[in-house]
Amino acid sequence: MRAEDAPMIRLEDYRPSDWLIDTVDLDILLDANRTRVRSLLKLRPNPQGRQGAPLVLDGDELALGSIALDDVPLAPTLYTSTPQSLTLPSPPDRAFSLRIETELNPAANTKLMGLYRSSGVYCTQCEADGFRRITYFLDRPDVMSVYTVRLEAVKAEAPVLLANGNLVASGELPGGERHFAVWHDPHPKPAYLFAIVGGRLDHIRQPYVTAEGRKVELAVYVEPGKAGRAGWALDSLVRCMRWDERVFGRNYDLDVFNVVAVSDFNMGAMENKGLNIFNDKYVLADPLTASDGDYISIEAIIAHEYFHNWTGNRITCRDWFQLCLKEGLTVFRDQEFSSDERSRPVKRISDVRTLRSTQFSEDAGPLAHPVRPRAYKEINNFYTPTVYEKGAEVIRMLKVLTGDDAFARGMDLYFERCDGTAATIEEFLDCFIETSGQDLTHFARWYEQAGTPTVVASGHYDAAAGSYTLELAQSTPPTPGQEEKAPVVIPVALGLVGKTGDLPLNSISPALKAGGVVVLDQPSLNLTFTGLSEAPTPSLLRGFSAPVRLELDLGDAELLRLFTADSDSFNRWQAFQTVATRALVRAGKSGNLSELAEKARELAAALADFLAGPAMADPAFAAQVLRLPSAADIAREIGKDVDPDAVFAAHRALSRAIGAALAEPLSALQVQLRQHGPYSPAAGPAGQRALRNEALGLLALALPVEASALAQARYAEADNLTDRLAALAAMTLIPGEAREALIGRFAELYADEPLVLDKWLMAQALIPEAGTLDRVKALMASPAFSLGNPNRVRALIGGFSANLTQFNRADGAGYGFIAGIVTELDRANPQVASRLLGAFKTWRMLEPGRRDLARSALRMVAATPGLSRDVSDIAARSLA
Ligand SMILES: [Zn+2]
Repeated sequence: MRAEDAPMIRLEDYRPSDWLIDTVDLDILLDANRTRVRSLLKLRPNPQGRQGAPLVLDGDELALGSIALDDVPLAPTLYTSTPQSLTLPSPPDRAFSLRIETELNPAANTKLMGLYRSSGVYCTQCEADGFRRITYFLDRPDVMSVYTVRLEAVKAEAPVLLANGNLVASGELPGGERHFAVWHDPHPKPAYLFAIVGGRLDHIRQPYVTAEGRKVELAVYVEPGKAGRAGWALDSLVRCMRWDERVFGRNYDLDVFNVVAVSDFNMGAMENKGLNIFNDKYVLADPLTASDGDYISIEAIIAHEYFHNWTGNRITCRDWFQLCLKEGLTVFRDQEFSSDERSRPVKRISDVRTLRSTQFSEDAGPLAHPVRPRAYKEINNFYTPTVYEKGAEVIRMLKVLTGDDAFARGMDLYFERCDGTAATIEEFLDCFIETSGQDLTHFARWYEQAGTPTVVASGHYDAAAGSYTLELAQSTPPTPGQEEKAPVVIPVALGLVGKTGDLPLNSISPALKAGGVVVLDQPSLNLTFTGLSEAPTPSLLRGFSAPVRLELDLGDAELLRLFTADSDSFNRWQAFQTVATRALVRAGKSGNLSELAEKARELAAALADFLAGPAMADPAFAAQVLRLPSAADIAREIGKDVDPDAVFAAHRALSRAIGAALAEPLSALQVQLRQHGPYSPAAGPAGQRALRNEALGLLALALPVEASALAQARYAEADNLTDRLAALAAMTLIPGEAREALIGRFAELYADEPLVLDKWLMAQALIPEAGTLDRVKALMASPAFSLGNPNRVRALIGGFSANLTQFNRADGAGYGFIAGIVTELDRANPQVASRLLGAFKTWRMLEPGRRDLARSALRMVAATPGLSRDVSDIAARSLA
């Protein structure tokens, strides 16, 4: 079905299911090409539904084998079945059972939705609507059922048989060739949380006792031979379980918790009840095959999926419009966990970088949508940075606005009241209305209104009166389908910084709340602070207290003062970034690089002081400071008629000048931060590596000859992937034979490590040179690449689409290349294809020549016959 023909599904059309399914008994005989699925459903009319309604079960590419009602085969006149549905026009007006048999071909399932095989392992992915590819069902999250699953397979092919819940029986079948396992999950759940796994897998396990005293067996399953790389994931699991007990009072509720890593996976990981299935990229780690960044991601994603057990599984979503109810909240929870495990300011900075690069750009383009969309054609296209990352920001603001205590009590109330239900955003917010006594009606607009608000701030100091007046004004630009915007509730955490630190905040304005938070809920507001004996510099949006753009009337000199004097680490980082951003935006717009030299001197001087002083106290933070805003960030800031080459040239010039001015201290860091002793992924040593490697990157631009020698030495002496990758990344900035030789050596070293070669593919796809497109095409033919594996596609093709100058080549060849891959890939895996097409989300901000070329490429995609709903939806919305 094409997107234009696909029905638009709307939030206001929601009504409860006419039928409920209390229990599901599945009997699955696993076979690569002919898997037989027998399902027994116990149905009853929903008291909230329409009486006497037909029963319409969902399907997707299914063929009905047999059907029986209350154990009697159903006459063909009493039902109709198509690949997409199974309908009983006049079912009994009472509880009854249905037996349904279907047959599947897991080996041919390239969409990786439903039941498929990945490197010989049977596995499932059912969110959002994959269960209907296994059997006919009421595949909607508000139909929650108790599942019992019997799996049977040839023992040699699938010695491990896993499903949700607890193992209740297992054994060999007569003859000894086949075996079975029966799993029962006592917790009612929606079908999207269903999962099974069957295959040859190694595992590691560890007993765990919850705070409530329940004994749980934790296990991580991986491909044979890789158990030695599963330890960090298991360790992360134990830490996040303890954290959830301590911070949110949440205990685990089954006898086992299994994590399984598979190599072909459309997403990062999936929170199936008691049986989380992961992209192996987010499980496997050892020092030589995983970078510091991988260790951090594994820890965060293990936590994220585990935390879903309460926010997503025990309390699920009433419908898919409420997706942010589980995702935004769970991202917030995993961010808090990582902040507690590591450095809170560094975590915040890295999250804000991601938010700006992925979500702000989405909000500014044709795919903008609210945190809770009101309509969709293809729900798989709404697993977006807006639902996840902005959704988490909304929870963070809720915490700031209601205060820590009312927020904690609100969460407790939510867990107590909504446990076992399929809930809505309204039910969630009601809990915080009760515990805080606040009216959150206005706040709820964050869920409904798309677009990134801009806050304009200006201030005036009256020396005679000892007062400072701050004016804040907000506006939100129009987004598709939402021309008129209303003010939102913006918590602005602030401080007034004087010569020797923070000044007292005295104001009678009711907008000023406890903890130095000003609530901007009108188009604008003024507030006056008194009792100030010196002119303050305002430090606004501390800790990035709201997902907005901030325009300040502060000069660069004042910002650099905040960089050294602000007590808020986030704003110290932000102040420096803002000065660099302003200079890059000016030069990127005008193409005039001469002004940059002066700015580079100022920035380098500030950095030199920083490196000589406080930087060493927190190297991870210092690494963030050294990393300038990306060229893509600058393009987004410019926002219209962007010439990517001019932006890139400005970025290069500033980086090079700063690198040259700081050559001495940056080189000194290479020696000073050299580590002795074995590799540890802990925050301390990882921070030192981050700073040392960030410095190497700047040197590569400023002093290529010296840096090339340093990078090659780094590569040769490294005992971990982080340093090897840093050397490779530095060398990609230095064209020449040495670079190509290192690229070759890296590939040889890691020939049998696809996950590491993904990084190698991406590093090359990101080279900002005219030859990169040809390089990428050549790499597609190499054994390291496969169009059938989502990780490979994201690394090489996704990497190229993130290459600002080469994806946006002036001749349009980058657009044509990506458009061609999207249409080819769409036939096998629509989800991965549509994600890739999202690379065009910023096309409207380009200068007219590139805009026309990008539009033509999008039109070419849109006009391709037989497109999936996923891709045609993105193409149509991008062009609308
Ligand atoms: Zn999630």
